[in-house]
Amino acid sequence: MMIINQIILFLITKLPKSFIKIFASRYVAGESQLDAIETAKKLNKKGFSVTLDILGEHTKTVQEAKNITQEYVKLFNLIEKNNIDANISIKPTHIGLDISIEEFESNLSILLNTASNTNNFLRIDMESSLVTNQTINTTLKFQKNNKNLGTVVQAYLYRTIDDLNLLNKFNNLNLRLCKGIYKESERIAIQSRNQINTNYLKIFEKIIHLKGFVGIATHDQALIEDIYKLIHRNKIDKKQFEFQALYGVPMGGWLEKHLSNNYKTRIYIPFGPNWYDYSIRRLKENPNIVNYIFKNLFTN
Ligand SMILES: Cc1cc2nc3c(=O)[nH]c(=O)nc-3n(C[C@H](O)[C@H](O)[C@H](O)COP(=O)(O)OP(=O)(O)OC[C@H]3O[C@@H](n4cnc5c(N)ncnc54)[C@H](O)[C@@H]3O)c2cc1C
Repeated sequence: MMIINQIILFLITKLPKSFIKIFASRYVAGESQLDAIETAKKLNKKGFSVTLDILGEHTKTVQEAKNITQEYVKLFNLIEKNNIDANISIKPTHIGLDISIEEFESNLSILLNTASNTNNFLRIDMESSLVTNQTINTTLKFQKNNKNLGTVVQAYLYRTIDDLNLLNKFNNLNLRLCKGIYKESERIAIQSRNQINTNYLKIFEKIIHLKGFVGIATHDQALIEDIYKLIHRNKIDKKQFEFQALYGVPMGGWLEKHLSNNYKTRIYIPFGPNWYDYSIRRLKENPNIVNYIFKNLFTN
């Protein structure tokens, strides 16, 4: 399957960008902040909260990292102005972590001030294992004075279950829990889907046990059923969790089911001018994603 995906990926990179855009528009809300705000408004009307994310990663220059930070500042202000139920997610390497820790943290500090001033929340996405330590360290450093900050944990990493103790330093865990999207070695990451799911449930239960808040970010409907069972069996308080899904991924009616159960449900909306380079880079990194996209195109 891997080889077929690589061939498909090669063919995709040969197609005109305008053609790819037709398919990408299902998953990406457009290029501008106003496109994203309009999509957010529509989803809010249907009862969903949203997270906005400007596509991009591995920023190379200080000026670029500062520009992106300013784009996020504008976005916080637009969310407030339009009275939208939306928070923001950023990638550490998008706002400067590849340049230096100082650059990343100085930009993060600007964003956290803006998040506070606009009464909003910032989540730091989790990138590859190369930056897991730094992402956790910075999150803890800033959480000391900011309640409006959280990060993400990945169920495929063996270390995650122990990282929860570290992340709980201030007894205010606020995490998104996902399976993990990067290609990681078997030395540090579980490879089997079933075992990742088992670990996902274990991590979910531990966050709940630690009285934390968890964003349940998965499209895996069997896993969601298992989570529902845990919620019912353990009578988990609705205030301790929300469900999260990526914009455009079909969920077989689950999103509406969450809403009808009064479970908070958040759609993660990526957008931005870099949608093409970003999407191709991510596909190259993990060609198995091609599977999802094709399956979704032909099943819905
Ligand atoms: C809100 C949200 C935020 C995320 N943030 C991060 C993060 O910070 N760091 C990180 O490493 N990963 C992140 N991810 C990605 C996540 O780690 C998984 O790689 C991805 O969601 C696929 O895993 P799954 O749990 O959906 O289950 P899978 O078993 O992989 O997928 C279940 C089904 O969902 C569909 N599907 C899943 N993903 C996609 C997709 N991208 N496009 C189309 N269809 C798809 C497919 O039909 C698939 O069969 C995030 C995911 C979500 C939903």
